Amino acid sequence: MDSKQAVGLAVKLPFNTQEEFINSYGQNISRGGIYLRSKALKPPGTTIKLDIKLQSGEMLLHATTVVAWVTGTKGQGVSGMGLKFVKLDEASQKFIDSLAATVPHAQIDEPPLPKNVGPADSAADAVPPIAPLAVPTSATPAPVAAAAVAPSVMPAPLPSGRVLVAGSSQQVSAPAFEVPKEEPKRTGPIIGIDLGTTNSCAAFVKAGRPQVLNSREGYNTVPSILALNARGKLVVGHPAKGQMLTNPRLTVYGAKRLVGRAFDSPVVQQIKDRFHYEVCAAENGDAAVRLGDKVYTLQQVAALILREVKDIAQVQIGEPVSRAVITVPAYYNDNQRQAVRESGRLAGLYVERIVNEPTAAALAYGYGRKLSQRVMVYDLGGGTFDASVLELNDNVYEVLATGGDTFLGGLDFDNAIVAYLLEDFEKKNGSKFQGDRVAMQRITDAAERAKCILSERTETRLHVPFITMIDNKPLDLDVVLTREKLIELTGALVDRTIKVCQEVLDARKLKPSDVNEVILVGGQSRFPLVHERIQAYFKKPAAKSVHPDEAVAVGASILANSLLKNEGVLLIDVLPMAIGVGVPGGRFRPIIERNSALPTKKDHVHATTRDDQHELEVTVFQGDNPYAQDNEYLGTVKLSDLPKGPKGSVIVKLSFEVTNECLLKVTAREQSTGKEVSVVLSTRDTPAEVKKKLEEDGAPESKPATEAVAVPSAGAVRSAEKKSGGFFNWLRGLFS
Ligand code: AMP
Repeated sequence: MDSKQAVGLAVKLPFNTQEEFINSYGQNISRGGIYLRSKALKPPGTTIKLDIKLQSGEMLLHATTVVAWVTGTKGQGVSGMGLKFVKLDEASQKFIDSLAATVPHAQIDEPPLPKNVGPADSAADAVPPIAPLAVPTSATPAPVAAAAVAPSVMPAPLPSGRVLVAGSSQQVSAPAFEVPKEEPKRTGPIIGIDLGTTNSCAAFVKAGRPQVLNSREGYNTVPSILALNARGKLVVGHPAKGQMLTNPRLTVYGAKRLVGRAFDSPVVQQIKDRFHYEVCAAENGDAAVRLGDKVYTLQQVAALILREVKDIAQVQIGEPVSRAVITVPAYYNDNQRQAVRESGRLAGLYVERIVNEPTAAALAYGYGRKLSQRVMVYDLGGGTFDASVLELNDNVYEVLATGGDTFLGGLDFDNAIVAYLLEDFEKKNGSKFQGDRVAMQRITDAAERAKCILSERTETRLHVPFITMIDNKPLDLDVVLTREKLIELTGALVDRTIKVCQEVLDARKLKPSDVNEVILVGGQSRFPLVHERIQAYFKKPAAKSVHPDEAVAVGASILANSLLKNEGVLLIDVLPMAIGVGVPGGRFRPIIERNSALPTKKDHVHATTRDDQHELEVTVFQGDNPYAQDNEYLGTVKLSDLPKGPKGSVIVKLSFEVTNECLLKVTAREQSTGKEVSVVLSTRDTPAEVKKKLEEDGAPESKPATEAVAVPSAGAVRSAEKKSGGFFNWLRGLFS
């Protein structure tokens, strides 16, 4: 062995993410140190300055260590060293702290001694044994580059399975979101982007053919995930997904469901605790997320994902990209659509068109085929289900009806498996599973993987090692799951999707046999039971020509190309949920009905209910529930400086106009005298405040809609207060 002189040791490992590293080697690290395999051993007491880097060059561990003991010097066992941490830099300390917070074996203040490497031969300190751990010696991958000091040094590998690090600190300093200095240019190529709940996909039409743009790692999609890594850097896509298990607190996924919603809206309040990251309120009251010491709006989160997509597009197309067609779920309300536009702008992309996902999927299916068909787009993604029936006539794509369930997606399938696993655990171990959020996330992750495998195979083993401790003994979760069992657990969820298809057909008095083709999109539509039930209901198999992950982005790119070429593709969408106003008693009065063909315009007339009423307020909602508070609150129109007069004599006409992109515009005019009406936008009231106002008779009962709006009077209304947000943006545009 060498002398006790201090040495440097740098190891670069063939892993892209912390999680990959931990999955393979995590159990060889503890709060106190690390076990490294090495043929070039140093004697106990030697100081080693250790740098462990990931494949990308990102530093994983920067530590001063001292050799505590060695193994394998006596002709048996594996040759290696236990290095005790003496000093760690800040990021490494956080990484180790979070590891120790979750994994039972990591909570020792000494380097761990893996069982299969043999006993420690000589020790500077005592070596406590750790949980039994089988270490296959053959599976050690070679380091990409190792220091000259000890080229064969590697941590000993683990068997399969995952080890987790609890995301901890709120104190991590996160970078501020950089707002682009200029507005995006409307020149150059237009890409199509499917900004998905789980994954995003981008496509571009080159020489007449749509091409899917690959992620940096070569996949056809980019996970819609943003994370703050241990070094205080924001990462997007696969690297972010890589730390989802190891640092869930600082990893934002599924944020699409929160976009464009007020923090205290019923939906956000209902779902915020399902996320492992912190959902909080932004300055304007919208839902936002906290990462480390910063709060990011959902528009900023989406913008960072879009920026990644933009960057990979620029590399693959070979020129600057500043324009996009972006898809949104058909059921997105006005706030959410406006939020997506804003996200595009923040990403340096001019959003040429917002298009509904099912319409884009239909474009991918029908474009260039001169079809005359009625199709059902069945979109079962990670978080939501969407069904739309469309008529295709050559270049005209007309949505006849749309429907869906915003709380039905792949996640519900995962949850059904998790519930079964926990039940099984209790049966086998005689006590309820006790685990924190991170343990639950590990089980959910394993359940999802098993679910995907069962789309191809009929049986799979689900093994999550060291998931909990009972009587100081670490326990695994180990279950064989069959497709048959999965069908038993989730059949009712698939039945719900078929029921929605039926409702959508009923809305147009159509029968399943009136549908020529069924187009399946969304990852969860790969489940064989979906295909079976579709076949049984529609009496025909689903179309084979459409890729469930790529269809929406491809459709968006086709639309983008047709905008550039002015080809005259005509998309006629429908309003997914009614838009209307709140009326006394807390009820909702629809002004534009659900499934109305777009664009559309309807008027709504309000009259004063008191003599000399000075001010009038109208609350606007979107949804299909009879009570206003159960619908999405879009905003409040305040009309002040009304002319004096007896009650009922002052009449204000509001015109609701929904564009072909399903964006709402409202114009307001005082009718009786033609006098100028000033419009004051209230701050965003919470649903509770709105409800209170409604109960206090803040909004008068409306009269039925009357004649169409004439040209607004000259010098009409002015905007007295400017606020950001969808509703306020359109009003600003109209009245300033
Ligand atoms: P998407 O939002 O379209 O990306 O769909 C993501 C959902 O599809 C997730 O819940 C995945 O678990 C699920 N998924 C992806 N691939 C499969 C598969 N092969 N079988 C079943 N579900 C899948």
